[in-house]
Amino acid sequence: MRFLCVLCALCGCAFQASALDREAFTFTNYDLDVRVEPEQQRLAVRGKLTLRNDSASAQKNISLQVSSTLDWRSIQVSGKPVQFVTQPYTSDIDHTGALSEAIVTLPQAVPPKGTIELDIGYEGTIPLDATRLTRIGVPEELAKHSDWDQIGRSFTGVRGIGYVAWYPVAIEAVNLSEGNSLFEAIGRWKARERSSTLNVVFHHSGEGGAILPTLLCNGKGRQLSYERMGRAYLSVTQCVFDPLQATVPLFAIGDYSGLDRPALNVSYLPDHKAAAENYLLAGDLALVFVRQWFEISGEKPETMKAEVVDLPDPEAAPFENGKLLLAPLNGRDFALARLTAVHQLTHAAFYSPRPWIYEGVAHFMQAAYKEQDNGRQAALDFMGLHRTAVADAEAALAAEHSQNAKADESLINTSREEFYRSKAMYVWWMLRDMVGEPALKKELAAYHPEQDKEPSYMQHLIEAQAKRDLEWFFDDWVYRDRGLPDFRVQSAYPRPIVGGGFVVAITIENLGNAGAEVPVTLRMEGGEVTKRLQVRANSTGTVRIEAPSAPQEVIVNDGSVLESNTSNNKFTIQK
Ligand SMILES: [Zn+2]
Repeated sequence: MRFLCVLCALCGCAFQASALDREAFTFTNYDLDVRVEPEQQRLAVRGKLTLRNDSASAQKNISLQVSSTLDWRSIQVSGKPVQFVTQPYTSDIDHTGALSEAIVTLPQAVPPKGTIELDIGYEGTIPLDATRLTRIGVPEELAKHSDWDQIGRSFTGVRGIGYVAWYPVAIEAVNLSEGNSLFEAIGRWKARERSSTLNVVFHHSGEGGAILPTLLCNGKGRQLSYERMGRAYLSVTQCVFDPLQATVPLFAIGDYSGLDRPALNVSYLPDHKAAAENYLLAGDLALVFVRQWFEISGEKPETMKAEVVDLPDPEAAPFENGKLLLAPLNGRDFALARLTAVHQLTHAAFYSPRPWIYEGVAHFMQAAYKEQDNGRQAALDFMGLHRTAVADAEAALAAEHSQNAKADESLINTSREEFYRSKAMYVWWMLRDMVGEPALKKELAAYHPEQDKEPSYMQHLIEAQAKRDLEWFFDDWVYRDRGLPDFRVQSAYPRPIVGGGFVVAITIENLGNAGAEVPVTLRMEGGEVTKRLQVRANSTGTVRIEAPSAPQEVIVNDGSVLESNTSNNKFTIQK
């Protein structure tokens, strides 16, 4: 007890660190004036923040965090400087693995739901830094291609939340070596910031060559001025994110040229023109397919347009955020470019605030495009590349959590890419197999993101088109994480029928906790017959298939249903 008291007293001296609730405030509005000097790798920011106390108790302290290579210069409330201390704060939310945290002590506490405005200033450099990856053992070369963000002489690319804290945030420390904590923290932050606005005026200056450097951002951009004095230039660009939704605000500066189509814009770096034209052609072909699913009219030109921004590092990991893709344009793989373009154009044509719908549909469209080009098996093989990742993630979760905690990783709540991308892709494929393509197309056309207030909205839209009950499917796959099915052929009994041939009674057992409708194939001499069978979790289902010749083998699941174990799916029928 005595020891505890001493500890309390010690903590008390250090400005009550334990009392600080870093996630108490929502940053509802940013008004930032950002100066970028690529030659010096420098960033200097002045601006105003509006914060709302969304916690249940009054708050006297505020945490403001920026990347560890930036320093706090001033923080004011109502034109008067306020007391603040700065400290390095270790967290993998930033590429440097640390933040410069300012802990502000307010003259008066902000009550719950109360707001406060702060005038702020910070500056420093943003060099290439992959510390958060190298310190967990990622080889430096590899890490640099992943955390490629920097302000640099020839190229600047700086992504926001989850990469570089170039605008202030406040998030509890996360560690890349601790499971999914980084992605959960980013998910929490994005959910809080969904309705917030970020208004930035970028000033960038330096020396230009034949092509003047251009600043690109992923908000609503507008060039305010561009001055040139000899080789020197000064450019002012406004960029507005209103509302932020799930956007990762980013900016890039480089010697960009543009190629433009009604549905796609490509910004490419010098010497990459041929690759850019190649991507544009891939986009034209992909658009024909996307149009079969979604209306792409010229009504909302700026919201419908997909954007591609070139990266100079040919090995750089592509980054996708909404309709924007940052990727090195190399023109090497045309088939891949077409698949990428289908994904992007789907995003441009179809929006949902729910990641499992927004990303799931875009990945499903890639598989469907593959199917159109190379047939169903090629599409199943393409999806199969994702199967192990999901099965492994499900197995790890099952080991990690109790039944209750597992409910949090439903497609509705998850922040895991294996789920809201890969698992969701399968869910959309299974839904199409169950209700048919025409019904699914009508359902997607009837979807309105602004009406998607309840998780069951999508289920009801599909049921209305398909005229069947899908509650059980959504329960097992979307609303809860019940893991995956595991099918096995329990028995297959052939019985000769009058006039020749056989009828085979096939019983399929589902050993998993999620039900599905699964294809069952009966192979016989000179052919095969496939029927679909619904098998609920931990139950069996029986289907009868007629065979004109001697039945040989039963196979459950052609790969279209996501399953944990596929080694028990074949059954040989004894003569
Ligand atoms: Zn996507």
